[in-house]
Amino acid sequence: MTLAEHTLTTRLDELRGDAPATRHNARTIAALTANPGCARRALLDAAAVDKTVIAQELGFPPKFGQSPFAITRGNTFEAMVKAHGCAELLRLLREELELTIPEVGYHDLETVGDNASNSVRYQRTKQLLGQALTSGQGTLFDHPMLRLEIAGAIAYLEPDVVALQIGGLFHVVEIKSFAVVDGQADPAQVASAARQSAVYVLAMRELLRELGHSPDLVAHNSILVCAKDFTNRPTAALVDLRKQLAVIGRQLSRLTSIDTLLDLVPPGTSFTPGEDLANTVAAIPSRYAPECMSSCELAFACRSEARTQGSVDTLGRGVCDDLGGIDNLDTVLALAEGTLEPGPEHADIAEMLRRARALRLEVAR
Ligand code: SF4
Repeated sequence: MTLAEHTLTTRLDELRGDAPATRHNARTIAALTANPGCARRALLDAAAVDKTVIAQELGFPPKFGQSPFAITRGNTFEAMVKAHGCAELLRLLREELELTIPEVGYHDLETVGDNASNSVRYQRTKQLLGQALTSGQGTLFDHPMLRLEIAGAIAYLEPDVVALQIGGLFHVVEIKSFAVVDGQADPAQVASAARQSAVYVLAMRELLRELGHSPDLVAHNSILVCAKDFTNRPTAALVDLRKQLAVIGRQLSRLTSIDTLLDLVPPGTSFTPGEDLANTVAAIPSRYAPECMSSCELAFACRSEARTQGSVDTLGRGVCDDLGGIDNLDTVLALAEGTLEPGPEHADIAEMLRRARALRLEVAR
């Protein structure tokens, strides 16, 4: 770890304070890129703070997340696909995808000896993937530990997936227990799995870059393993991730540097649960949008705050664009009612608002 990385890690640890720690996963990174302008989320995630706990402390517990039943079912399905050195997975790849996998070397990277620390597992993953690339040996890498730089802070990623080497190309394998019925799966679930796989592909490409190899040795197609026809039998399909890779890669590169965001909080600030927490969170700029409801644990807290402040953000990005930068609902209403004279830059919008109000009053008559 470089000195700059060490300093940043120390500052983020201070910011987390006594708040419970969690860590980034592919889902949180994909969600982060859905709202790249939100400093609040970026800081909480960079400091590895558990946003669910923070939301509960603020009195706005999140209302989404997998049910315990779905989590158990997912774990059971994954264990079955990976049992006996991924025997079932290999059968699927050979029979359903007709991949040529002559001999198999299997490495479980969940721990290194008794050591399960992120950095040790990452180094071991790097070493084994590097050896596999030069020797051509080694096919399946279960639970590899990957890293991705998120706005200047390092996030460790522990995929439930397997990295698979076929003919010198690595593939990310994503195992999901949702059903494929008559060859069709829920598009929203497939899209979410594709976004997660894309994050793993980006992290694996980063690892290969560090090893001095071409990042293109990680395929842009991932292998999605799902449950067939509501049974526990698995089926496999190739998923083209080029679009997701382009979007997530571009948005990750646009995230504001964590160093700059840390300057927003005074020294000594922390997310430690307690009476100061609400003020600490409120002092960090957020960018609420209705999309937060499906992607961020703090959505109910941020929506309430945006409503209290009369922010037009609660109405969605389309309305915000139409309002051309007017950010307060009281201003919008005053312009519509004609009690506020617009500046020249808002004259067109004010005219539109007045006409819309007149129409509305006419319809209501
Ligand atoms: S819910 Fe709040 S913290 Fe989360 S992304 Fe939206 S605005 Fe940011």
